[in-house]
This record gives sequence, C-alpha cells and structure tokens, in this order.
Amino acid sequence: MNTTPTVWLVGAGPGDPELLTLRAARLIQGADVLLVDDLVDRRVLELASPTTRVLAVGKRGGCVSTEQAFIHQLMIREAKAGAQVVRLKGGDPFVFGRGGEECDALRAAGIAVEVVPGITSGIAAPAAVGIPVTDRRHAPGVAFVTGHAQDGGAGADWAALAKSGLTLVVYMGVSRAGGIAQALVEGGLAASTPAAAISAAHTPRQRSVACTLGTLAETLAAEAIASPAILVIGDVVRVGAALANPEAVPAQAMA
Ligand code: SAH
Repeated sequence: MNTTPTVWLVGAGPGDPELLTLRAARLIQGADVLLVDDLVDRRVLELASPTTRVLAVGKRGGCVSTEQAFIHQLMIREAKAGAQVVRLKGGDPFVFGRGGEECDALRAAGIAVEVVPGITSGIAAPAAVGIPVTDRRHAPGVAFVTGHAQDGGAGADWAALAKSGLTLVVYMGVSRAGGIAQALVEGGLAASTPAAAISAAHTPRQRSVACTLGTLAETLAAEAIASPAILVIGDVVRVGAALANPEAVPAQAMA
C-alpha cells in the first residue's frame, strides 16, 4: 500500500505498444486501477494484469466539465483507498491532454502525482511517414497548436503563426481545417505551402495524404481523413517520402 497516496499520470504514446516507455509498461502491468482515455490503443491495455480494474473515462460526446470533475473524484477516491492508480492518456499527458488540470485537482486533494512522459502524436504521426518536425534546411522550429479553441477562447493567432517560419503541427484540426488554412493564407502563408495529414498513426488503421495548404480541406474530405489526425503544414512535408502520395507535394521553389 502507498504511504502517500499517489497517482501516476502516464503517456501511452500514439498507438503501437512498442512505443511505450519502459516505465509506462511497468506501471500499466502493476496498476490496480487504470483510468483510460478514448485515444489509448486497445493493444496497450493488454499489458494490464487480469486483476486490474480498467475504467474507460473517455469524454467523447459527453458533458466535458462534469465528466472531468468525475474523473478527478474517481482518482482521488481510489488513491486514498490505497489503490495503485494509473491515469493513462494517449500520446503525452501534458500535450493537449488536460494533464495540468488533473495534476492541480489531485494535488489540491493531497495526492502526489508522478508524470511519465509519452511520445506525442504531433511528433510520432509525422515521423510515421518520414516527416521530421524540424529540419534545418526547412524550418528553424515547430509550433504545436490545437485546432479546437477552448469554448469562448480565441484560439491560436494563425496570422502570427503564418509569419513565424515554423512548422505547424495541428492537433484536433480535421473538422476546422478549412478555416485554419484560410486564416493562414490571409496571414501571408502561401497557398502552395506543402501540407500533410496523418490519421490513426502507429495503428493498423494509419492513413496519410499530402497536398498543399490551399487544397487541404478538400483533400481531407475527398480522402475521408477523419479524427484522430495530425495536420502538418510547412516545407518539412517535402521530406516525407513515406506519404501515401508524395508526388502531391509541390517541388521546392527556386530561391
Ligand atoms: N495527448 C495527446 C493529444 C490529445 S488531443 C498526444 O500527446 O498525442 C487528441 C488529438 O491528438 C487528436 O485529435 C489528434 O489530433 C491527435 N492524435 C492522437 N493520437 C493520434 C494518432 N495515433 N494519430 C494521429 N493523431 C493523433
């Protein structure tokens, strides 16, 4: 039994269990209670012991705020009862995963939190098709951005990002790809900028498309690319030789 009640906030990576950290695998195997998000691959859960209680606490289609509070209460109750509680999240728990909010709630309840980083989909999905998120020939850095602004929030400053020269890696961006592309073009990014989308990366359902910023929304619709998917916008897409249709990426303009 734990002396100080502790919850382990663990990144499950993008899908393939071989992309778990050794620590994540060990904690999953030793958990009494596993609280699991929708995006965690079923194959990862096969590592759990038959006696582990696996609770699916995904938020899709539900009332987000109530359910988030419910997840907090559940973790607090189980940890205080002495259970080894592992909160398992897709990718990395601190990248668009509400990991910060969960840490705050747990610490406020007197529970210690240990965070185990995971491979985030914003790096793993581009890598699955050979796209490096930075490449000194193409981009001096990368911005990880959500396409899904918080209710009432302004969201990312797309005009500033358009001028940044950074690779743009967009999470949760499929349904708003048209608006995002338009805001980037209005902000000064060329419509001919290479773009790609990778869905369900590192799972048997992985798919990818290459196109340009100007054709991104229509390409996603035509190819029926659905969530979960990562959008990559920038010249690094040219390096992505493993894309389904690399010929769709325009050749480098002469300087
Ligand atoms: N914490 C997660 C992100 C959660 S937000 C991480 O670090 O990866 C959910 C978004 O992540 C999805 O809408 C999608 O944009 C992205 N995503 C998660 N898993 C993915 C996968 N296997 N392939 C492509 N995108 C993925």
